[in-house]
Amino acid sequence: MEKQNVPELFGSLVFDDRVMRARLSDKVYNSLRKTIDENVKLDDEVAEAVAVEMRDWALEHGATHFTHWFQPLTGVTAEKHDSFITPSPDGGVLMEFSGKELIKGEPDASSFPSGGLRATFEARGYTAWDPTSYAFIKDHTLCIPTAFCSYSGEALDKKTPLLRSMQALDREAKRILKLFGKDVKYVRTSVGPEQEYFLVDKEVFDKRPDLIYTGRTLFGAMPPKGQELDDHYFGVIKPRVTEFMEDLNNELWKLGILAKTEHNEVAPAQHELAPIFSTTNVATDNNQLMMEIMQKVARKHGMVCLLHEKPFAGVNGSGKHNNWSMATDTGVNLLSPGDTPYENAQFLLFLAAVIQAVDDYQDLLRLSVATAGNDHRLGANEAPPAIISVFLGDELSAILDAIRDDKPYEGTEKVVMKLGVNSIPHFSKDTTDRNRTSPFAFTGNKFEFRSLGSSNSIACCNIMLNAAVAESLKQYADELEKSDDFEVALHELIKRVITKHQRILFNGNGYGEEWIKEAVEVRGLSNLKTTADAMPRLLDKKNMDMLISHKVFTKAEIQSRCEIMLENYCKTVNIEGHTMVEMVRKNYLPAIEGYLYSLAKTTSLMKSVSDKVKCNYEVSTMERLSELTDYIMDSVEKLEVALEELKSYDDIIKTSEAVRDTVIPAMDKLRGYVDEAEMLTSERYWPFPSYGKLLFSVN
Ligand code: ADP
Ligand code: MG
Repeated sequence: MEKQNVPELFGSLVFDDRVMRARLSDKVYNSLRKTIDENVKLDDEVAEAVAVEMRDWALEHGATHFTHWFQPLTGVTAEKHDSFITPSPDGGVLMEFSGKELIKGEPDASSFPSGGLRATFEARGYTAWDPTSYAFIKDHTLCIPTAFCSYSGEALDKKTPLLRSMQALDREAKRILKLFGKDVKYVRTSVGPEQEYFLVDKEVFDKRPDLIYTGRTLFGAMPPKGQELDDHYFGVIKPRVTEFMEDLNNELWKLGILAKTEHNEVAPAQHELAPIFSTTNVATDNNQLMMEIMQKVARKHGMVCLLHEKPFAGVNGSGKHNNWSMATDTGVNLLSPGDTPYENAQFLLFLAAVIQAVDDYQDLLRLSVATAGNDHRLGANEAPPAIISVFLGDELSAILDAIRDDKPYEGTEKVVMKLGVNSIPHFSKDTTDRNRTSPFAFTGNKFEFRSLGSSNSIACCNIMLNAAVAESLKQYADELEKSDDFEVALHELIKRVITKHQRILFNGNGYGEEWIKEAVEVRGLSNLKTTADAMPRLLDKKNMDMLISHKVFTKAEIQSRCEIMLENYCKTVNIEGHTMVEMVRKNYLPAIEGYLYSLAKTTSLMKSVSDKVKCNYEVSTMERLSELTDYIMDSVEKLEVALEELKSYDDIIKTSEAVRDTVIPAMDKLRGYVDEAEMLTSERYWPFPSYGKLLFSVN
């Protein structure tokens, strides 16, 4: 591959601050900057001026089309390309792009899920420019990041509520900072999402209908070697994968995506890519782009990038870690322990706000990552559990205990700092040890939410997290603004919050059976194992009230989202079920039958030659395989019935419960028999490439 000048390459396809500053007049630039930083409404003249420069810049970079790029509730991004051309009177064309086209678009998008929000007569939602996320060029198209709404103003996408949740947090955090004597322009949340994925060879992939239709294998016996040797984790990256990663980095860098670290993951063929963190809505856009580009670049290298949470049974699935923090426009990280007692008190208050948020809205966090794919990780025997808890590490926990019990803190740090009459100890921030089994861990100056599935949009969990933390902060601001002695009130508040939310704090092994028991039975934490269990909690009054009061969602939006997510769950499993039926009836059963025929023929031929041959292998294999084909037949029929029955429900919650209770167990049973048959059948007869071929296909 040719050598790249990275600083030159970086962001070369992005209409970023550097480009804006260079190309826009001071007046236009300053006005746009105010919109970006302080959410001030953009006026039409400025939009017009920006559009002209954006068009010229895009044309210079080879673009011919533009699109409003948005994130409908399908989970993938959507775009509808329009070319810049307008006929000119002399019979030629002009390349035009107006301020109006920049600000607002009207995709004929009536087929996107709306969960009943749009009546068909007004099915055409509209898209609105999000100037806080830079426009970029992809495939000769100028992509303008936008929000997608219905004409009555209801959000039909993931960006709109995300921006609203960021505003809610901004508002409440600024109230708190004011109490500490700080007047900041804004508080924003930042996210660095670590993305896991698998790479398989395209030729092998193409032979697996389950991967093609569903993104995961629905059958497959374990190969002799899986991940038990831990020899893949951080291992030497194979040349073909290295080439892919280099190519991927270049493509991402051109789009201004801060791709930073990459390494092999635990399972064979599994890898991870982490960008440097950025503002949440930008990180969200970038993560969507990153997933798209990963898949595209993999194809170029003769591979397929699997973003499914559990492409292979028996080896680790893929997740995404949402590293989250809050920072001011002056660059102060509010989750960074400070150097002075006063700063520490402020840190502890923001920390308390997160702890309370995670406890009060554990169900919202859980359901924000719930999909059919992610159910294979959460609540199954894999990291992290479906129970949400917070890990703080020993030192920070000891400090909170000291505050809670009014005792002096006796940690590794000797100094006990004083705040007014109350002691709030100082501690070093680098001592947060890592607990990989915790779903929500404090890692020094940020929280890492680890329950996301690899294909999840990070928008969903950040909407809930921002809103829930905004709610804690609002309660604190309401209380502290009224207090006569701020320092005393602050200490009392922090003490009360950590006492009250003690149950959510857990530093132990999150995978252990004992924890599940303790969490549920002693602490009363919720353990929502599947999407069917989790999603309806969105409609709980406490959750609706909170989200509506912070103007993150309207009631109708919440109801529609719940419906869409459950529909998505049911449809996904339905497709998987039908794919299994087809593979079994058309391929597996005929293949086993072919092998049985060969065994039977061999046996009778051998016996006709000599009556001394016993044919033990042939006969016992035949007996077991024949038994298995009967079980397979029986299970496939049961699965068909379960799938058929889904059509009889007219309520989506009931349908999702039937998916959970009848379809998925029927699928599991069927798979068990087929996988056993695979181990007994000659490879020559087996219709699809084995797990061994899939997992070790990229060399
Ligand atoms: P790990 O040890 O879990 O692999 P790293 O320390 O490498 O994690 O960081 C993972 C991610 O966290 C990166 O994307 C990084 O940019 C991001 N990150 C670091 N600091 C912050 C912060 N203050 N806010 C949000 N994300 C952050
Ligand atoms: Mg991590």
